[in-house]
Amino acid sequence: MQLLEEKIAQCGMILPGDVLKVDSFLNHQIDISLYQAMGQEFARRFAGRPINKILTIEASGIGLACITAQYFHNAPVVFAKKNKSSNVGSDFYTAQVASYTHGVTYDILVSKSYLAPGDHVLIIDDFLANGKAVQGLKAILEFAGATLEGVGIAVEKGFQPGGQDLRRAGIPLESLAIVEHMDADTGEIVFRH
Ligand code: 5GP
Repeated sequence: MQLLEEKIAQCGMILPGDVLKVDSFLNHQIDISLYQAMGQEFARRFAGRPINKILTIEASGIGLACITAQYFHNAPVVFAKKNKSSNVGSDFYTAQVASYTHGVTYDILVSKSYLAPGDHVLIIDDFLANGKAVQGLKAILEFAGATLEGVGIAVEKGFQPGGQDLRRAGIPLESLAIVEHMDADTGEIVFRH
């Protein structure tokens, strides 16, 4: 998606550890027009699929999932929590996710009230790196007996294995920008087309 690539090229910063910082429009301050364009693009790419729910993971996925939901007939958005807060109840699906950016492993959880076997779910997240977050969400859908209709990602780092693993498993994956290569020394970012 050209608009997103241009924004990454213009504002993205490459941090040590192959982390792409896009805080000025995606992860901290949010460019709503860009999110709307991304939501519309996901709707175009997943058109025809019987998606009735969107699943993401806190925190960065929530905003994008909510705006995207507006282009899927206001499908409810469910987000996996990373901590067992007191109001989540005791009946939940859980999976382990090793965090790419924080270097810790979370037990993510989703209340059993919000996922059911009849659900057809689109997973949305901001980044795809090693694929741990998406694999954790996928495991939760399997526990719930829900159908995974696809995975929509804003930025895939194509030089890390998450995207390849999902494609090999036959999961419909749509990444709006795929970074093929990035160089922290020169600041160069190359996209896959
Ligand atoms: P994965 O689970 O695929 O290894 O990593 C994806 C998760 O880690 C995303 O939910 C995202 O929050 C975070 N993440 C991974 N790589 C990056 C990155 O380069 N930049 C940012 N901002 N977040 C990332």
